[in-house]
Amino acid sequence: MDLEGLFVRLRRLARRAGPLLGIAALAAGIGVDAVQPSEWLFVPIIILLAAMISVRAWRRTHAVDLMRSRDVEIGALVALAAIAVAVHTDHQTAGPTGALVYVAIGLVSAFAHPLATGVVTLGAVGFEAVLQSVAFDGVATAELGRHAAFMTAIAVTNMMSLRMEVARLRKASRSELTAERERVREEARNYRLLRPVADSETEGGREDDRLFRSGIEEIELSVLFALRLLRECLGAHTAILLWLNERGTQLRVSELVSDADDNELSDGPFSARDGILGAVLSQRAPVSLIDLKPTFVLPYYADGCPVQTVCGVPVFERGQLRGVLVVDRRESKAFQPEEEELCEQAARFAARAIENERMFLQLERTRVEQGKLYRAAERLGAATTEEEVVEAGVSSASEIAAVDFAAFTSFEPSDHSHLIRAVRGDLAPKLEGRRFPNNAGLVSMALQNRHPLPYRGEYDPSHQMVFARDLAPPQVPSLLVLPLAVHDEPFGTLVLGSNTPHAFDEAARGLLDVLASHLAVSLSHARMVRLLEEQATTDGLTGLLNKRAMLSAAEQKISGARRFGRPLSVLICDIDLFKRVNDTYGHDVGDIVIKALAQVHQREKRVTDAVARFGGEEFVTICEQTDAEGALLLAERIRDEFKRMTFHANGEEVHCTCSVGIATFPGGGRTWEELFKAADDALYASKRGGRDRSTIWEPKLRDHSAA
Ligand code: GH3
Ligand code: MG
Ligand code: MG
Repeated sequence: MDLEGLFVRLRRLARRAGPLLGIAALAAGIGVDAVQPSEWLFVPIIILLAAMISVRAWRRTHAVDLMRSRDVEIGALVALAAIAVAVHTDHQTAGPTGALVYVAIGLVSAFAHPLATGVVTLGAVGFEAVLQSVAFDGVATAELGRHAAFMTAIAVTNMMSLRMEVARLRKASRSELTAERERVREEARNYRLLRPVADSETEGGREDDRLFRSGIEEIELSVLFALRLLRECLGAHTAILLWLNERGTQLRVSELVSDADDNELSDGPFSARDGILGAVLSQRAPVSLIDLKPTFVLPYYADGCPVQTVCGVPVFERGQLRGVLVVDRRESKAFQPEEEELCEQAARFAARAIENERMFLQLERTRVEQGKLYRAAERLGAATTEEEVVEAGVSSASEIAAVDFAAFTSFEPSDHSHLIRAVRGDLAPKLEGRRFPNNAGLVSMALQNRHPLPYRGEYDPSHQMVFARDLAPPQVPSLLVLPLAVHDEPFGTLVLGSNTPHAFDEAARGLLDVLASHLAVSLSHARMVRLLEEQATTDGLTGLLNKRAMLSAAEQKISGARRFGRPLSVLICDIDLFKRVNDTYGHDVGDIVIKALAQVHQREKRVTDAVARFGGEEFVTICEQTDAEGALLLAERIRDEFKRMTFHANGEEVHCTCSVGIATFPGGGRTWEELFKAADDALYASKRGGRDRSTIWEPKLRDHSAA
């Protein structure tokens, strides 16, 4: 081990052992003080302990992680301080001040991990034993045992009660949260604000949640304001708005303004059939009563009727009965017709506030949804390759719902099979690139019926097959398959999965459906672009590169060879006496022969070699990092394989041969033009030498045309 390593290790050891040594030194000091009490020793020890505890406690409160070793350290220091004070005061370990140690253990158990508390307790008992044996009259086993039992009992009970309290608080706050969510949901249902608050913690869910909360607050505020105004105008004791439940059987308090104390009022719900409330609802008209006795039943008062006059008016929303608005007076003073009219106006105001809020929410939701779709359209518009389109589709879907898994499948009409092209999330390596036949699975069915599946988003992973039997997506509670089709041409599907239950609710499905149609169009564009690009770079007859594509590849490859000083070879291969094949058997047979030589090239070349049909029956190959000998081997393999092929035409067997010319960088030329010219000269030499052979260019072949 080198010196530096040793130093690092020593330093690490010192850092670890430092606190331990410090504690040991302090313990020794306390021991000395126990044998021979001295203020000169005791006071500095206590000051040092207090300082160390403060520093460590400060660090602990500001640390991100909770380290058990640090807790043990603090605990040990606190216990030491207690023992030091007890021993210094009582001159023994079991004196009256000894109870301080219990306090210390109680304190440690309140903040430290149980394990740390255990270590500190054990240490404290051990230290007391040492003090007894060193400073006092030897170890008093019974007393020590009692002491240990007490400490343990204190630590355990303290920890248990603390943990129980924490658990209780946690539970309370959780149930408070649930209650609050339930309340908002209930309010939304009562006001019929489109749909109850989503459970999902998705971005969309949160946005909805916020929207609903603010909507409900808005309604509550306007209704409260109307009731206050009404009560002031009419000099009423209570003004209350009661709302019918879904079934129309009960009324619950929606908003209330009253002079009465809270304990005089009843929370409801109240029957929608009985008493004055029932009368207003059944008559669908205002009902006023006067000279009420204290025994009269006004259900929103808990016991006894404190008022003598009451007036109830029905609340309508678009002609539908939704609740009752009631005002009452302590004194016996009938509500005048214009006062009744005022009540009806307040009722209409309340109904309209709800209606407005609903409309506002609808608009706001539409705006939010349009924003999402707009961003999706932007992303999809910017994507040019199929990969980019799928990526844009998945990220847009994630903005609409909580997507944890996404797969894109493409459909192959020729053999009715599906290919899993891209997968995000779990199982990606297992699924990607797998093919499966058209079956009764969700992907096949969704594409066949051009309809998102499963119906109504009810997904059951144990019963529904998604891709194929042996190809299951990760187990998720929510899944949606969106078909991708353009002009009725099936492209494939987008499969979305979520760990959130009900992630793909009705609203999300509507948006995702729109997204899917965008996606399908973008995919078909991307495919078209790819086909066009392919057409621009490939030769129609053979599928090899065309001349244009080859020229641009050649420039790149040659400049690479020049930069890295590597050899590079150019091969030109030409079919011998091809005119004769065409003349004897026709062009079609000629084409078959050309295609066959193209396939020979494809088979024999290396992955990094580029092959092009240069027009006619001439093929050019560029081999990187290949010298003339290597190129000759390739040329001979091609020539040999082609020569042994048999074609059939007019009942005859036809055989062809080809000739090759080879030129290598840099000897044969330093530019494409030079190299191509050299290879062409070598080819000419092959032809002139009797065809069916390969020739490597050499200087004496220069300029065959001049020869
Ligand atoms: P050589 O051995 O000297 O090469 O003799 P050759 O007859 O092959 O001569 P050359 O290479 O000059 O002939 C090219 C012929 O290839 C001319 C033309 O009839 C034929 N050809 C060119 N393009 C095509 C094609 O796309 N299809 C078919 N069937 N024939 C083609
Ligand atoms: Mg030829
Ligand atoms: Mg030719």
